[in-house]
Amino acid sequence: MNKSLTPGLYVHVPFCRTKCPYCAFYSLPSPALIPRWMEALQREIQFYRDRFPLFDTLYLGGGTPTVLSHVQWSDLMETLFNAFNISPDAEITVEANPDDVTPGLMGLLHRLGVNRVSLGVQSFDDRELHTLKRRHNARGAIEALDCIRDAGFSNVGVDLMYGLPGQGEEMWLKTLGGALAFRPEHISCYQFTVEAKTPFGRMRDKGMIAPLDEEQERAFFISTSDFLREKGYVHYEISSYARGLTFTSRHNMKYWQQAPYLGFGPSAHSFDGNRRWWNLSSVQDYCQALSRGKVPVAGHETLSKEQHRMESLLLGFRIKDGFDFRTLEKMPGHKKLLRDLERGGLVRVEAGRVMPTDEGFLVADSLPLLFSL
Ligand code: SF4
Repeated sequence: MNKSLTPGLYVHVPFCRTKCPYCAFYSLPSPALIPRWMEALQREIQFYRDRFPLFDTLYLGGGTPTVLSHVQWSDLMETLFNAFNISPDAEITVEANPDDVTPGLMGLLHRLGVNRVSLGVQSFDDRELHTLKRRHNARGAIEALDCIRDAGFSNVGVDLMYGLPGQGEEMWLKTLGGALAFRPEHISCYQFTVEAKTPFGRMRDKGMIAPLDEEQERAFFISTSDFLREKGYVHYEISSYARGLTFTSRHNMKYWQQAPYLGFGPSAHSFDGNRRWWNLSSVQDYCQALSRGKVPVAGHETLSKEQHRMESLLLGFRIKDGFDFRTLEKMPGHKKLLRDLERGGLVRVEAGRVMPTDEGFLVADSLPLLFSL
């Protein structure tokens, strides 16, 4: 728990123009529902007006937030700024799809106070984009990045995916090179995963797609980290690289550092430092609850001390900065275990912190289990 950190604000826009065949996130290709969702969202926001004194990040994610119209954007930002005290130097991020990026929309977002755009490019190779059934091609991604810069954004993130079906390491590094041509302030590199109950999941079951094996995963991960580090990027979280520490995602760091956050929209999660709660995930159920004057909360939990401790390990092993050594104090034998992990090249212990190495990042999910009480 890190109550001393200023809370972050999140809005989940659960709509996409089309559904990508690999995506297991809850989002609907039903723009007709947007006005109803907007109305519900505005009601939900009023429930939490005085809950937190100040926010220093606002993140509008999805789904695809850029499906909203100009009028909807203006209304949403006005509602948020009226209801909450958002610090004048807040980081305000919008996730964008290359296909939706126009000078008009980017200019509007900039005027509304957005100062960071995170663009879902995935690849700069047309064949790969076609496989992923993305609506943009490589040229569209390049034009979108130019357009975002022209609108005045000086903090731009590019999201990419590696390990795509048929993609070799060389092709992946070519995509990374394509992104670097723009000197983005932030690059997220996610491993392509095949999720059950998606069209790609069904293709995998029929043997039409083969996921990466462990050795290939490792090779992609290490070559990405080496490549970007050489180009001046800081590998500050498993999937995240920043062109210097000033460009880390301040909002996402809140999740990894257990800071409080308040989330709006279907399936959004919130955390006040002790208690976590989450919203109904279906847009219909969410809208219905709010139209009846109810908060759309689906569940909640209050974290025990041990849950807090385990979460700080789970999250701490994901970030370069790691976690406070004292988190392990109560665990018998932790010093020897840490020495073994250090000898194995998985962590470094320095200045009172336990910090994962790149090899440690690769096994970040299993390391916390070694320290459970
Ligand atoms: S645009 Fe993003 S959220 Fe929407 S379906 Fe595709 S991957 Fe999922």
